[in-house]
Amino acid sequence: MQRLLAELRQSGITDDNVLAAIGSVDRERFVSAAFAERAWENTALPISFGQTISQPLVVAAMTEALRVGPRMKVLEVGTGSGYQAAVLSHLCRRLYTIERYRELQKSAERRFAALNITNITTIIGDGWLGWPPQAPFDRIIVTAAAQAAPEKLVEQLKIGGRMIIPLGETRDSQSLVLIDKTESGLTETPTLSVRFVPLLHGRVKRP
Ligand code: SAH
Repeated sequence: MQRLLAELRQSGITDDNVLAAIGSVDRERFVSAAFAERAWENTALPISFGQTISQPLVVAAMTEALRVGPRMKVLEVGTGSGYQAAVLSHLCRRLYTIERYRELQKSAERRFAALNITNITTIIGDGWLGWPPQAPFDRIIVTAAAQAAPEKLVEQLKIGGRMIIPLGETRDSQSLVLIDKTESGLTETPTLSVRFVPLLHGRVKRP
């Protein structure tokens, strides 16, 4: 773990609260047993349904760029393993997270319970729609890629709020984009280039 934190520091992560949050979430619990030995490596790893748990550097960079405060209400789209949500839960007041796959949502919930994390609420649904009953949010993080920011999510962001989302026409041309919402409109700032699985449309269809 110390080695990973040193590597994140070397890669430019400077926020001690973010590093402490990463250090306090046992990533081993979020990967399958087959990858347990690699849980503290700075690499993305496969989870179920062809999805991936993001690379720790990407989790750290997104968390740092989001500038989360202890009183904030945060929405995540794309629960996946639940790792990014667990990291954020240490920095905000309440985290809401949406996932399309029931099985992923359920196993993320079991992990949160096992880690005694009580400020995360999960839901199964289509992240393109956001979570109207809980809106507006101080921060929104999307952990799957789209071509443009979903309108409903932009609507559900508070004025003065910030969203981070991987945007790109193709898988090879994605970058993490920060979107700040002010009284006078939106500003978009591209940051790192990344590779995320796509933000899909609609609910999972069952056979
Ligand atoms: N944040 C995760 C990694 C996310 S991988 C982690 O820390 O492990 C992207 C996730 O987004 C996948 O689990 C995928 O099923 C989910 N996803 C894709 N499109 C979605 C949508 N429209 N609504 C909700 N979840 C979606």
